[in-house]
Amino acid sequence: MRDWNGELGAVAASVETIPSPSINQIESEHPHPWSVLISTIISLRTRDEVTLDASRRLLAKAPDPEKLLELGREAVAELIYPAGFYKVKADQMVRLSEILMETNAGEIPCRLKELLALPGVGLKTANLVLGVGFGIPAICVDIHVHRIANRRGWISTATPDASETALRAILPRKWWIDINRLLVKFGRIVCTPQSPKCSECPVSSNCPRVGVTRHR
Ligand code: SF4
Repeated sequence: MRDWNGELGAVAASVETIPSPSINQIESEHPHPWSVLISTIISLRTRDEVTLDASRRLLAKAPDPEKLLELGREAVAELIYPAGFYKVKADQMVRLSEILMETNAGEIPCRLKELLALPGVGLKTANLVLGVGFGIPAICVDIHVHRIANRRGWISTATPDASETALRAILPRKWWIDINRLLVKFGRIVCTPQSPKCSECPVSSNCPRVGVTRHR
């Protein structure tokens, strides 16, 4: 039986002083599912510092879907530049705001199926909105969670979406929301994509290092 509390508790302690990912920072500044939704869309294929600044600029002018529609596509694109694919993302945000205003009085849905039906919203974004935005247990699997969960032998999967399904079957629900924030931080400083720092890892003693060919 895996000691999840011991293992993830040690990971959490090792990254305590590392700044949280941009989405979590934005949520603490603007505690509403809308801010999580918008900043997660901005974050796709975009560096964390850029996501943070772009989200702050946009949310200052568009704290809800109605205000975002008043701004319009051009202004939204300008505010989130230089986020990757900023014009596509501006277009998605305008379209999803229109849908939310027409179908849900501007409110963000709190069900996975309805979130996935919105433009620009995939499984990762939907689960982050549920977990971080609404506090509903959901596992957001990005490249860090996918990589580390496989390296540690928790699961054996080929894609982040498959990892989400596999983790749902084994991870205690109390860790569902936090696993993303913890492993993103851990993946940036210890279990890095190339040559992980196994000599500094607090949970190296029971790590099978699946697929790791080089480490420090
Ligand atoms: S021992 Fe190495 S591969 Fe395993 S979790 Fe730690 S840093 Fe990652």
